[in-house]
Parts: sequence; structure tokens; C-alpha cells
Amino acid sequence: MDRRGLLLFASGSVATLLLIACVGFLSDSSTVTANTSPVKALAEHEVYYPGTEDLAPDEMRVVACGTGMPNSRPKQAAACFLVELGNGDKFIFDIGSGSAERLSAMKIPYDYLDKVFIGHLHSDHFGALADLWIGGVIGNRIKPLRVWGPSGHKPEFGTAYALEHMEKVFTWDSGSRQGNVDIRGQVLDVTEFDYKGINQVVYQENGVTIRSIPAIHALDGPVSYILEWNGLKFAFSSDTYPNKWWIEHAAGADIAIHECFITPRLLVEKQKWTPGAGLNVGTQVHTSPAQFGKVMSLTKPRMAVAYHFFNDFDTLPEQLAQVRQTYDGPLSMATDYMVWNVTKDDIRVRMAVIDEDIWPQPAVGEKLPPDRNTRIGFSDFTLSGREPFPEVVQKIYDDINAEYGTDYKVPTD
Ligand SMILES: [Zn+2]
Ligand SMILES: [Zn+2]
Repeated sequence: MDRRGLLLFASGSVATLLLIACVGFLSDSSTVTANTSPVKALAEHEVYYPGTEDLAPDEMRVVACGTGMPNSRPKQAAACFLVELGNGDKFIFDIGSGSAERLSAMKIPYDYLDKVFIGHLHSDHFGALADLWIGGVIGNRIKPLRVWGPSGHKPEFGTAYALEHMEKVFTWDSGSRQGNVDIRGQVLDVTEFDYKGINQVVYQENGVTIRSIPAIHALDGPVSYILEWNGLKFAFSSDTYPNKWWIEHAAGADIAIHECFITPRLLVEKQKWTPGAGLNVGTQVHTSPAQFGKVMSLTKPRMAVAYHFFNDFDTLPEQLAQVRQTYDGPLSMATDYMVWNVTKDDIRVRMAVIDEDIWPQPAVGEKLPPDRNTRIGFSDFTLSGREPFPEVVQKIYDDINAEYGTDYKVPTD
């Protein structure tokens, strides 16, 4: 074959290959175009968009709404995990500072965010409770907010005392809403249980059982929770030093979320603590990453979730390396908006993509008009300072009445 013949042979081979490729393309054109067209959606979401996915009847979805520390920062709120079940039930485990805005980002009506389980009374585990409580009232919750939490070594260290006084702190706030909005969601329904109970049932409704076990953290009183439903088991430590109750009762959980505090070295380097404070808080008050790994190697969950550390590009490698000294199983190093879809066959881990322009969802039931007769009202002193601008306000009323076909009158009292 001369040089020209060689070229012809070569080009003929290329043509044959192209023809084969074209036939292959045509025979599977629907798949190929769906995956490659610049104007078609991709078949699969690699992220979770809140409010866009139904839960299967046998599915559990867990959303990290707070994974950080008591120090507030934009990237990570303090402890909060939302558990949603295929039967429609939703539960909040801890509600640390800053987490209420993460909960709102899930686009769930507040009537469904009505069950909160507090592990202990550090602000990074219940500091946003008032935000959910009061914000929920304004956000259309028309049901009481139900809260469960442990007793303490004295009554004033228990959940009931804390929430009774939280209500007192907000006396002015609550009073100000009387007669101005539907305040049925303002009722707090608090259940305090014995922190010493071991695998004691604290909630059992609609096929869901939640148990508490003692946790060891800072003072007597903290607990961890275990939720079981439809053959799935979720365990949440809140804060605790490694302990025998967790290892026994959280064993084999489908998803086990346990604190994994910042390493003592990072507490010194990044947080400017003394080595002594870093060692004490990092390994004695809390569970360090290496201790977390040891706990998980004994718990053997289908998915271990580490939280309660600042999860950054320069801290994650050290945290992870220490966990991996003692644990080689399935692991998520949590940050805010991480999402786990759990079924018996699969655990899918993704990040949620958040719409920051969140408005409250509608109430599930019908809202009642406020009873103006229950208003506390103003003193004559304050009333004497009002500038009512009747020509301005009358137009606002007229416009609204015209748009909605109503007949509201500007109050004269
Ligand atoms: Zn704590
Ligand atoms: Zn904490």
C-alpha cells in the first residue's frame, strides 16, 4: 500500500467508526439528549431543595439545622437536627442559638414544627427556642409548642423551671401580642422527665417512640435521645462524654449523631485557649474526635454523624484524621444544611440548597381574628403622643378593603 492508499484506508476506518458512533447515538437518543441538552433539566438532583421532594412512606429525612459551637457565626448555627418521617411527623432535636433561621429555610409550616426535644440547657442547645416559639406565632403556628427536656439535680436546674422563666422573660412580648394576632401558638406545653431514666420512653405517638438515656456533660441533667419508627433508629447525643448508656442503647442505629468537639490543639491554635483548658473542655467535658471514633466503633451505626465543631477547610483534615485513628466505618462530618435520606436499603447524603428569601408558610388550620377586647392597651400618657395621620391611614384601609372586598374601619380607640 502506497502512502495515498494508507491515507484512504485510515480515513475509511474513521468514517466507519463515526457511523457506528452515530448509530449508537440514534439508538439511545432520548437518554443522550436528556443528559446533554443545554435546555433540559438533569435527571437527578445532587442537592436537596427544601419543599420539592415527597418523603416515601418508609423514609426518614434528617436535616442538620445547626452543627456548630456556642459562638454564633454565619456558617454554622449551634446544635439542631430536624427529623422528618414518611408518616408526616417532624421532630426537632435541640434548638441551639441561630438554628431557628435554618429551620425556617426548610419551608415547613410552623404547625408541623411543634415538637422539640432538648438534650440539655446550654444556650447552644436551646438558645433559639424563644425564636421558634415567638417567631412561630407570628409565622402562623396556631398550635401549642410542645417541648420535652430533662430534670436537673435540683428543680431550678430542670427544663420546666427554665421554660417557665423564659415565659416570664417574654412577659412584655406575649402581652404585646394579645388582641393583635392569633395567639393560640403562644401556649408552651412542657414535659419534664427524669434525667436518670435509662432507655425510658418519653414520647410514643403515631408509631413513633422516643427514649432518653442519661448523658454526662458539665452537670447532672443532660440526656441523649433515641427515636425509633418503622424499623429505623435515629440516635442523637446532644452533648456528652463517652458513656456506657449510649454504647448500649444507640448500638446499631441507622443514623447516629454524636458530638465530636474541636480537637484540643485547634482550641489552642484557633480559639486561643490555654492547653489546659483545651484538654479539659475538649476531652473531659466533651468528646474529642478520637474519643468520638472509639464511641462509633462500638456503636456501629449505618451512618455515624460528627457535629459540634467548626467545619472549615483548615480544621476538617485534623478533625477527620483523629476520628480515623479509632473508627473506619461510614461517616459524615456534619455542617449546616447537610441532609440524610434514610431507608432500610440506602442512606443518601446531600447538601440542601437554600432560598434565603423565606416567608412563613400558611397555617394548617384556619387562623382566628384577634379579639381586640383582650388588648392590654396604652396609658392615657402614651395615647396623648399619637399622631394618627387620618388622611394617610384611611387610604391604606380603603386600598386593602378594595383589594380584598373587606370592610375594615380605622380603629378609634
Ligand atoms: Zn453543652
Ligand atoms: Zn454544646
